[in-house]
Amino acid sequence: MQITKPHAALLASPGMGHLIPVLELGNRLVNHHNLHITVFVVAASDITTEKISQLLDSSPNDHLDVMLLPSVDISGIVDPDTNMVTKIVVTMHESLPALRSAISGMKIRPTALIVDLFGTGAMPIADEFEMLKYVFIASNAWFLATTIYAPFVDKKVLDDEHVDQKKPLKIPGCSSVRFEDTLEAFLDSNDPLYHGYLSVGREISTADGILVNTWEDLEPKSLRALRDGKLLGGVAKAPVYPIGPLARTVGPVSENRVLEWLDMQPSESVIYVSFGSGGTLSSKQMIELAWGLELSQQRFIWVVRPPLENDVSGSFFTVGNGSMGTVDYLPDGFLNRIHNVGLVVPMWAPQAQILEHPSIGAFLSHCGWNSTLESITNGIPMIAWPLYAEQKMNATMLTEELKVSVRSKELPTERIVERQEIEMMVRKVMLDNERLGIKNKVKELKTSALKASSKGGSSYNSLSQLTQDCENRLQ
Ligand code: UDP
Repeated sequence: MQITKPHAALLASPGMGHLIPVLELGNRLVNHHNLHITVFVVAASDITTEKISQLLDSSPNDHLDVMLLPSVDISGIVDPDTNMVTKIVVTMHESLPALRSAISGMKIRPTALIVDLFGTGAMPIADEFEMLKYVFIASNAWFLATTIYAPFVDKKVLDDEHVDQKKPLKIPGCSSVRFEDTLEAFLDSNDPLYHGYLSVGREISTADGILVNTWEDLEPKSLRALRDGKLLGGVAKAPVYPIGPLARTVGPVSENRVLEWLDMQPSESVIYVSFGSGGTLSSKQMIELAWGLELSQQRFIWVVRPPLENDVSGSFFTVGNGSMGTVDYLPDGFLNRIHNVGLVVPMWAPQAQILEHPSIGAFLSHCGWNSTLESITNGIPMIAWPLYAEQKMNATMLTEELKVSVRSKELPTERIVERQEIEMMVRKVMLDNERLGIKNKVKELKTSALKASSKGGSSYNSLSQLTQDCENRLQ
């Protein structure tokens, strides 16, 4: 096909949680901003060509090409038990030669390369081919501000006040970060990810622009802080484009037993429970959650993955734990007892379609930013149940600032949340008066999200600016 439009390339880090927002950004640029997009996908075990085509089927388009880069073998470099983030970082690094050769082999070279948080190592490739380079932060502006500021944090303040005395970490112009919400790797300079996180913080601000999956009215304070330069100690900074929310565009709904079941339930009567593309709980926590849902006497859909045995609270599920069947880790007789009110879905559910369904009344979520936005754009109240990455910050933002969620008294990462507390939270967001206040707040956010993304809205205009930058580069 001949490409007659400005052409940009996107690079998605391995994992569905990274691929989904990158594809959504690609869709948005193609459908509303007249760009031709090539998405480079770094291969991962949970990414199959079938899953990619399912995601693309929801919005087929001649101007969106997807190239799956060859998978790389990292088994000789990292231990199989290494944490997920390290695996992603190493996989990204090892995939750079394939990316370079894919770009150099393109007949019409893209004008810009847009990488996500784990892709900043690819920015020198953009320089090599004289392309514009952008970083796309699939999370929010507060997290971006914290990441950019991280290399400038006074180490003594970090160690003495934040780590030892557990005082909140001040981020200029933004909300402070509670000790318990700080990214774990950032608290320990011996953690190999600590230095990686600081490098990313430095690299982001060398881009030609930073796209962030938020919108002006959601985070005015953090966006102002990002723009006034204080986070960078006064050094040159990249322009920030809030372009969100990039919540999923749902295509024609294929037959699915979960959606068929939802069709039969009363309006706003079902709570959806899911921990993102890869999260799971400990065995103990899973039992308590099952009991909590049962005791609440509310209808539910719960996406379950096999539990992690050795973790207090839960974390990222890794393939290999999958030998158990669902009944093996739920309470005895649970599936029979909840037969009429609940659905347990193993591994993966069509989340975007579920959250759009009128029978959904609330979402118990791990607060991954995609899930958060999918909830907000559908006006769904939440129970915040963060597990890892920046999810604890997101949970605080949702509960304390935006007031669209409730959460347990202590973080679920610190201790097991017991069944009575879970029952109470579920009843709060589904039934109590509190639901009304939360519902009104989240509806306000839904309206402001729609306004930002519509033609002429702030996020729409940010993407138009990006398109203009690409066109100017072509001339
Ligand atoms: N998702 C889905 N079905 C599932 C679990 C997740 O479609 O069973 C999608 C979800 O809709 C969201 C993404 O996977 O778009 C998860 O991204 P998020 O940022 O919420 O969490 P992460 O997976 O990155 O932790």
